[in-house]
Amino acid sequence: MNSLVNKQPLRAVLLDWAGTTVDHGSIAPVLALQSLFCGHGLDISTEDARKDMGLLKRDHIRAILALDNIRAEWRDKTGQFPGEAEVASLFGEFGVLQLEIVARHSQVISGVVETVRLWQQRGLRIGSTTGYTREMLDPVLIQARKDGYCPDASVCPDEVGAGRPLPWMLARNAQLLDVYPPSSCVKIGDTISDIEEGLNAGMWTIGITRTGNLVGLDADAWTALPEDQKTERIRRAEETLLSVGAHFVAEDLPTCDPILGAIDDRLRLAHGAPQPA
Ligand SMILES: [Mg+2]
Repeated sequence: MNSLVNKQPLRAVLLDWAGTTVDHGSIAPVLALQSLFCGHGLDISTEDARKDMGLLKRDHIRAILALDNIRAEWRDKTGQFPGEAEVASLFGEFGVLQLEIVARHSQVISGVVETVRLWQQRGLRIGSTTGYTREMLDPVLIQARKDGYCPDASVCPDEVGAGRPLPWMLARNAQLLDVYPPSSCVKIGDTISDIEEGLNAGMWTIGITRTGNLVGLDADAWTALPEDQKTERIRRAEETLLSVGAHFVAEDLPTCDPILGAIDDRLRLAHGAPQPA
């Protein structure tokens, strides 16, 4: 093997959207999913709504309908178990709901604008992936740009045939940004499926805790939380993300900065491709 391949420094950071760069606590998808099912007479718990967060929303709806309690409730309401026709119909409704709710909850998370600007000034390319379709992401992207966060690329599941945990959105970002090999890229996200996506793409992965889906609180609710509960929530989120193979964990995007430095050092020392944590 040509050793130069492994001596490339860090070149790109590929970021998730809700819970990582916008929407502290990943609130919008939960509210939109609860509102969707409420329209059909079903109360979805926050826990059930958050369990498969990060998947393409069609896959996420399918995963919720596959939960034993939801399947049973659906049958009680309608007389039959939900199938693919129900997944398609709910996904169709979801787009409209999501657009309204996302518009209210897509503020850029504190520190993201400055951190991304710093990374871009250092020459890092910034890409992004999401569980939203392009139609759902575009309003978020427009709002983020107004707020000062503008990634160099964004790819949605509907543009590459599949969402997480498959690696195709990351592969397409790498192509758009002209960055390779995958070991010169870091995927940062707040869900299990973000980490799986990054690992499947052969990239480094950093799991986000405090601002993400696993803690699941907006900035005000987090601030109001007693210290011991903050510590416990962070610990549990770290444990979950590390258990699926995240190389590193961080509370939010700004605290990823020293980790990027450590990865870059390792790459320059030619330690090769990412290894599991
Ligand atoms: Mg997310």
